Amino acid sequence: MEENLHGLVLVHTGEGKGKTTAAIGLAVRAWGEGLRVLILQFIKGGWKYGELKAIEALRAAEPHIEVRQCGLGFTQRDKSDMDKHIKAAHEALKEAEAEITSGNWDLVILDEINYAVKFGLLEEQEIVELLKKKPAGLHVVLTGRDARPDIIEQADLVTEMKLVRHPFQKGIKAQKGIEF
Ligand code: ATP
Ligand code: MG
Repeated sequence: MEENLHGLVLVHTGEGKGKTTAAIGLAVRAWGEGLRVLILQFIKGGWKYGELKAIEALRAAEPHIEVRQCGLGFTQRDKSDMDKHIKAAHEALKEAEAEITSGNWDLVILDEINYAVKFGLLEEQEIVELLKKKPAGLHVVLTGRDARPDIIEQADLVTEMKLVRHPFQKGIKAQKGIEF
């Protein structure tokens, strides 16, 4: 193991925009340094064509980065089929555990995993247990609003995006390259 290597747990949370964007930024930086990067999406559709296309281009240059969509397209309005969503989230969690303990990666991003906890698809303690299994040299990023206290407690780096203003408040529609 590289001297000075200390695998971190990072959390991007808060109401402001930029949690997933910051995770993409880290993924690109890490890829550039030769780290093997895996991104698991816990909520389907969270990643847009723009970033997926960019990662395809990175993969074509050097393939040590991968994005996988695991969970289903759960939204707050979609409460009818909770069992189906809970099952999908647990399959995603199992996949996360297999990959985190595999030794195949240097950075694993669990995008919107906090959202899956917030909406009752996963239990806070399940994430806490998962983080305990993290190899010492692996960096793990967890994104999503309302990160639970026990998850924050286990993190080495916690950034809360603060909502000061958002164009949606003025009715400005999603802009290409900014929102997607
Ligand atoms: P991004 O993917 O842009 O970094 P995020 O990961 O911080 O956003 P999420 O909670 O994942 O935010 O939100 C998903 C969607 O909602 C994204 O399309 C994002 O642009 C948009 N969004 C994020 N924050 C806000 C906000 N404060 N008001 C309105 N829309 C927002
Ligand atoms: Mg996000």
